[in-house]
Amino acid sequence: MLVVMRREATPAEIEVVKEKIRSLGFMPHEIPGVQRVAIGITGNRTRVNADHFLSLPGVVDAIPVSRPFKLVSREVKAEDTVVRVGRDSIGGRDLAVIAGPCSVESRSQILEVASMLKEMGVKFLRGGAFKPRSSPYSFQGLKLEGLEYLREAAEKTGLHTVTEVKDTETLPAVAAVSDILQVGARNMYNFSLLEKLGELRKPVLLKRGFSATLEELLMSAEYIASKGNYDIILCERGIRTFETSTRNTLDLNAVPMVKKLSHLPIIVDPSHGTGAWDLVVPMALASVVAGADGLMIEVHPHPDAALSDGFQSLRPEKFRILMDRLRELASYVQRGCPEEAGTVVQ
Ligand code: PEP
Ligand code: MN
Repeated sequence: MLVVMRREATPAEIEVVKEKIRSLGFMPHEIPGVQRVAIGITGNRTRVNADHFLSLPGVVDAIPVSRPFKLVSREVKAEDTVVRVGRDSIGGRDLAVIAGPCSVESRSQILEVASMLKEMGVKFLRGGAFKPRSSPYSFQGLKLEGLEYLREAAEKTGLHTVTEVKDTETLPAVAAVSDILQVGARNMYNFSLLEKLGELRKPVLLKRGFSATLEELLMSAEYIASKGNYDIILCERGIRTFETSTRNTLDLNAVPMVKKLSHLPIIVDPSHGTGAWDLVVPMALASVVAGADGLMIEVHPHPDAALSDGFQSLRPEKFRILMDRLRELASYVQRGCPEEAGTVVQ
């Protein structure tokens, strides 16, 4: 249920509605909008009776939400959500580009790539420290040491960091270091992890599971929002289909469909979505045309020597070309794209 307040409702009237929701044993979620404030209700198992609210001062309407996901749905909030990260944001007019190696492999590797990316106008640095790999024998990441190097690279360049959080045990260590907490495809259904992320006040990048429907993706986002964290960025990263010539099938339908169903920003990861470095640029451009709010791109200074996902990583020279193409494309889709930052002084 969504309780819609009058445009001129006072903070005291809003508080009365929230208190009423709490007294019924449910959780209120204030959803500010341009036109009006609305208050979402979660925690109810059966339909909430609208009569509880309709007579309260400042209330215009109390409407049931038809979707199984509530707080993240467009029905509840018409305006796009913009997730703020320091002075930058994801979901606003500017395309957000998250780039970096699949894994943090050494101090020098992440420092080198961070400085190159900064110079090319990137604002968000990715790099996995805790890597959930399909094989237990594959490189599992540098773990705490990797987090330290990532932090150092961010401090030296002023980039925001994005790194994966693999489980609830390592969440505190990752949350202490990373600006955006990435939930990988393999963890999209890890509801205990999602709930813990909902209790934090840090942006979450939620990747779509290999075989998750969009409704399931949005339900996972709802797990986070239901605990009070609304700073969620969705990521389409390809799904499993019968096609074997690419690592995954990048489902670009997801972008406009998610925009229709939800107010959350959605970015696309064409690196995992294709599994082939030479498909990354065309699919990145296609993602932007489809309406994506940004991209996540794997970039490695020496892909041949990468400890994970080298085959789908762009060399910095190639990534620079992608950034140039994105700048050309941005104005056609009424978006902005960060300019080159100039040489970084270390
Ligand atoms: C990654 O971003 O390196 C990664 C492991 O992605 P995914 O969870 O989408 O496979
Ligand atoms: Mn990877």
